[in-house]
Amino acid sequence: MEHLQELITELQLCGVPLKQGELLCRHTSFQIGGPVAVMTFPESEQQIRDIYQKSREVRITPMVLGAGTNVLSPDEGLDALMIETKTNFNRITDLGGGVLEAESGATLARLAAFAADRGLTGLEFAHGIPGTVGGGLYMNAGAYGGELRQVVSGATVLYPYGTVTELGAEELDLGYRRSRFMSEECVILRVRFRLQPGDKTQIRARMSELMERRKTSQPLEYPSAGSTFKRPEGAYAAALIDEAGLKGLTVGGAQVSEKHAGFVINRGGATEADVLALMRQVQQRVYDRSGIRLEPEVRILGGENK
Ligand SMILES: Cc1cc2nc3c(=O)[nH]c(=O)nc-3n(C[C@H](O)[C@H](O)[C@H](O)COP(=O)(O)OP(=O)(O)OC[C@H]3O[C@@H](n4cnc5c(N)ncnc54)[C@H](O)[C@@H]3O)c2cc1C
Repeated sequence: MEHLQELITELQLCGVPLKQGELLCRHTSFQIGGPVAVMTFPESEQQIRDIYQKSREVRITPMVLGAGTNVLSPDEGLDALMIETKTNFNRITDLGGGVLEAESGATLARLAAFAADRGLTGLEFAHGIPGTVGGGLYMNAGAYGGELRQVVSGATVLYPYGTVTELGAEELDLGYRRSRFMSEECVILRVRFRLQPGDKTQIRARMSELMERRKTSQPLEYPSAGSTFKRPEGAYAAALIDEAGLKGLTVGGAQVSEKHAGFVINRGGATEADVLALMRQVQQRVYDRSGIRLEPEVRILGGENK
């Protein structure tokens, strides 16, 4: 990347923590991916603004990563500047009246526990989703009948040209694993959640129950990015894959989980190429059998969502 060294020096002068050549496999739940040119770990909104401003000056567009639990990263790495939010940009604030505000790098697990400690109900479903608030909003993450759309009341967003905007829930275009952020370049800074008063014991019991259901049904012992494909209209991806006899189908180190056909797992040493080849085989064979085209839920960082 042209001007990279200049940009690194500028960011260091602004006090932005960063690493060069950091391996993406260390920051993604799939444990796949090569080095990224620069990974930054901002500690404040000001540092995120600095990153955007300095990057703009040298015509670089930063990429954003939360906990890396819904991405597939390229084996050859990325010649990019990445903003990682989970490590340092993760404060949660109780604004009173049932409203919590979280910086985008706070994990959904910590947010749900924070709400439970205050006797606030509504986020129990999110406790077992391993991502961050920012990644969760980007994906409108959901499970067991809940989704972020039901509890998000607004978000603060920074656009690459430096404007910070407050968006109301109705402006977020949240749908099934969809948000406005998929079609516009920006970084989610903070998200506000409106929750209801509830009984702490019942809230914690529901969180434990849902976590148990996950452990029983999902291959949590292997690296993965969760559900590989979105739920198609009127069907379930896992059921279609299972019915096509694809459980256990393997390409290199990547395998359709025997435990849950909706998950592609990394059995050890899987590459991006293995996962993509396996996904294509699954899509083709499900289509041949059912006429249904499965669409990836996993975000493919190296290119378009193929
Ligand atoms: C074992 C397992 C179980 C899972 N179970 C579920 C489940 O039940 N339900 C579910 O919905 N998902 C599930 N997932 C998928 C994943 O956890 C969610 O999609 C989660 O919301 C992703 O958050 P993240 O922080 O990891 O995002 P990342 O994977 O880091 O990023 C995902 C996308 O969001 C963008 N992004 C992240 N942060 C920001 C930000 N601050 N501003 C702008 N863009 C941003 C990234 O650029 C990327 O395009 C599971 C994953 C695993 C590994």
